[in-house]
Amino acid sequence: MFEAKIPQESIRLTFFRSGRVFACLALGSCIAVAQSTPPSTQQDNGHWLQSLLKFQIPKFSTFIPAQPLTSSTCSVAPLSSIGDPGAAIFEASSGTMAVVDTTGLTQATAGALARLEQLVASLGGRLELKSAYRPVAYQEHLQEVWDKMRALRRNRQSGCAAVRADVAAEFSRHHLLVTQRPVTDSDHTRGVGIDAALVLPRGARINRRRITLDRLAQMVGFKRPDVRHDPVHFRMLATSLSTSSTANRATTE
Ligand SMILES: [Zn+2]
Repeated sequence: MFEAKIPQESIRLTFFRSGRVFACLALGSCIAVAQSTPPSTQQDNGHWLQSLLKFQIPKFSTFIPAQPLTSSTCSVAPLSSIGDPGAAIFEASSGTMAVVDTTGLTQATAGALARLEQLVASLGGRLELKSAYRPVAYQEHLQEVWDKMRALRRNRQSGCAAVRADVAAEFSRHHLLVTQRPVTDSDHTRGVGIDAALVLPRGARINRRRITLDRLAQMVGFKRPDVRHDPVHFRMLATSLSTSSTANRATTE
């Protein structure tokens, strides 16, 4: 064939040239591909972001603090209203001296308190009576305030805002202590307990002996059953130790 007569060199050159052309075309297409890459890359990015977002939505939701569905409600009920008329009077006069009711104390307790006041005065000290007799219904109210304050301590329900504000105000108004849960059957409801802030002058002595609060309380027939948690609470001893005569020689230095 005629073509068969074409020299080998010519064929190689043709192949070589066509190879260069192919290479150039290939390179050109590569550049073209490279230049046309951004749109396709954007598409890929878009796809990648979409995929990421699809994963992030459930991922973020796990970090959002779980809000109770019933956040408008409160699992702690509002404070009960005080139905007992006597307790209502106490409640109304809470925070004032009117809440201190010594008429409900037993005769022995009232006598011990009178002796204590006399002794403290003779030593130049000061006794501030905070509480004496309390009706059971009033004591139950104090207990309810304390219990609900504790229940609300870790409660984050937004529906509890009003109850929390009310309970906190009552807790503060009644000077309740976090460490001291009011008991239903207390020395106060039985008329044998008082709460008194008592201050003696430094170096107060009776019969030349230094006198402490507890020694003084014992002399009139009281004891402080829990000095650490309830330092103002004095309870009538079962057997009153009347030693009021020693007050005659009370001195201070
Ligand atoms: Zn008390």
